[in-house]
Amino acid sequence: MASIFSHAIAASALGTVRYPKKEVFNYFALGVFCACFPDFDVLFLKLGVPYEHMFGHRGFFHSLIFAYLQGLFIVRVFYADLTFASRASMTIGFYFFCCGVSHSILDAMTNGGLGVAFFAPFDNTRYFLPWRPIEVSPLDTDSFFGEWGIRVLKSELYYVMIPSLLLAIGSFGHRRWKAES
Ligand SMILES: [Zn+2]
Repeated sequence: MASIFSHAIAASALGTVRYPKKEVFNYFALGVFCACFPDFDVLFLKLGVPYEHMFGHRGFFHSLIFAYLQGLFIVRVFYADLTFASRASMTIGFYFFCCGVSHSILDAMTNGGLGVAFFAPFDNTRYFLPWRPIEVSPLDTDSFFGEWGIRVLKSELYYVMIPSLLLAIGSFGHRRWKAES
């Protein structure tokens, strides 16, 4: 996995592209949740589910279908006042879907572990992107607080955090330019 910090930062940056006028904090917080939740499948590892299993780490919970279901669930629970399949609900749901997918894409850019089962539950093949510059994050927190964690954060600074910051600056700049023109 990439670190939880990078998943949260990437989701926040995606949220700056378009966000509702009301309850902005909830919107971003739920986006961060969607981007971080897939790694709870590490608990299955601890329960003995093999990494390469459909429900192992980077399996079903990192798939496109799960990202879709997760987005749908969040919208139905936290935006229940919006009409089902209305433009507003689909726009918000798309953001939560993108947050989930951003997790899988970042994991597929790491240099360790098995790949990501993007197409689970139909296909458990694990995929990486052709470009994998992100140092894989350890599965246990103890290993993170040391030399390995510094390597992870350094690679994520270049390949996740700075690009996320640029996206956020671009989004706010574009919004301001539109407001003034
Ligand atoms: Zn992950």
